[in-house]
Amino acid sequence: MSVLQYDIAIIGGGCSGLMTATAIVKNNPKLKVVIIEKNSRVGRKLLATGNGRCNLSNTRISPEFYFGTCQPYVATILKDCDFVRNYFSDVGLLTVSDNEGRIYPLSNHVNAVLDCMRNYYQTFGKVDELCNTVVKSVQRRKRYLLDCVGEDSEKIRIVAENVVLSCGGKASPKLSTDGMGYDILNNLHITTSVLFPSLVPVICKDTLLNMLKGIRVKGSASLYINNNMISTQYGEIQFNEKTISGICIFQLSRYVNEFFVSGKKGSIRIALDLLPDYSQSQCSQLLFQRVQQFGKYELAIFFDGFLHQKVASALFRKCGIRDLHRKSATLTKKEIFLLSHTLKQWEFIPEQTGSFENAQITAGGIVPAEIDFLRMESVKYRHLYFCGEVVDVDGLCGGYNLHWAWCSGIAVAYAITGKIYND
Ligand SMILES: Cc1cc2nc3c(=O)[nH]c(=O)nc-3n(C[C@H](O)[C@H](O)[C@H](O)COP(=O)(O)OP(=O)(O)OC[C@H]3O[C@@H](n4cnc5c(N)ncnc54)[C@H](O)[C@@H]3O)c2cc1C
Repeated sequence: MSVLQYDIAIIGGGCSGLMTATAIVKNNPKLKVVIIEKNSRVGRKLLATGNGRCNLSNTRISPEFYFGTCQPYVATILKDCDFVRNYFSDVGLLTVSDNEGRIYPLSNHVNAVLDCMRNYYQTFGKVDELCNTVVKSVQRRKRYLLDCVGEDSEKIRIVAENVVLSCGGKASPKLSTDGMGYDILNNLHITTSVLFPSLVPVICKDTLLNMLKGIRVKGSASLYINNNMISTQYGEIQFNEKTISGICIFQLSRYVNEFFVSGKKGSIRIALDLLPDYSQSQCSQLLFQRVQQFGKYELAIFFDGFLHQKVASALFRKCGIRDLHRKSATLTKKEIFLLSHTLKQWEFIPEQTGSFENAQITAGGIVPAEIDFLRMESVKYRHLYFCGEVVDVDGLCGGYNLHWAWCSGIAVAYAITGKIYND
């Protein structure tokens, strides 16, 4: 067995771990750091973010866009987007924001984010990357002992003064985040809350999805639980054979899963508004006008010009109108009101959400009782730190999760190097 000694061992070369290494080097380049990564390279999930563009933060960062049992404490760690942008700028990465506040690398390429962090810590610091290596266990002795298995089943022991657990969650296991870090936590008797997938498609039992599959529309989606409106989100809605997805559905998926995980009884529904810029009465008015104007049209082409044909067909089916050879002029008042109401409140009943396989993030993780939030340090074990998705914090789509990964990683680096993060 080979034995390696370091000041700091970072378990997981993902977004938060890479930022921790970068920030340690910025604060104290003399410290010997090792990043232990299961994959053959660091930053594999990072490279998959934002469809290869990496939506790395948001101009609207605020604790209200985060969830989980640690949410009440995130304000101590979250800085605003300028802090993160300046931090990246210091290591060479330029960023831009779009008109919805999402921040991306100026180059529009996620590689720039990874390259800037790695260039920085490799040039200015003493950071080793130990890839193809899995940390199997962490023991607290005088220092920490990390037992790892490397390439060709080589046994490696790492002895370190400080350990950073940045091993991510269970979402998208194909990117190697299959929840191994939770075994380490279990062995250390560190409590985690129930884990479930978030930012994930919602599975609905609805035969109309067969007609709609493959279509994307812009609209809004509102989630109702026991007839109480929980949240409304605007954006793209995507129909698949058994699921609805797209950014605004992803944003609702946490509440949907929370409802199912809680085992609470009650009703749950998602209402899609396919004409969010029109009020209900404007929508009805629009349909009455079109009937007057295009009464000679068959129903099959009545909605041409503002609805996708497949969406229009499914809408007629939903409203019980089967004969699309009918002339539009034959639509009754009742039918027009029903079409209009369905366009504004098209209901889908969630049955469950997709699994971790197609989720972007893990909800649940290390509970607040285990964390000193001023230092992101374990309350049970000194010099053991947590950052990123492994903590019970998850955010909305739009750069919020990476923002948490960066800020919590920097906070850990400040604690380790004896600097004050919140001055
Ligand atoms: C497809 C996709 C797109 C996304 N896009 C965005 C986006 O645009 N904006 C945004 O804000 N968020 C996005 N996210 C979420 C974002 O990727 C996560 O919030 C972020 O990666 C969490 O960082 P982390 O450091 O906690 O974990 P990760 O980045 O997942 O890193 C954890 C690392 O630890 C390693 N590891 C785990 N256990 C061990 C072990 N025992 N030994 C050694 N190594 C180990 C893993 O291999 C992994 O590399 C996206 C997620 C997905 C799946």
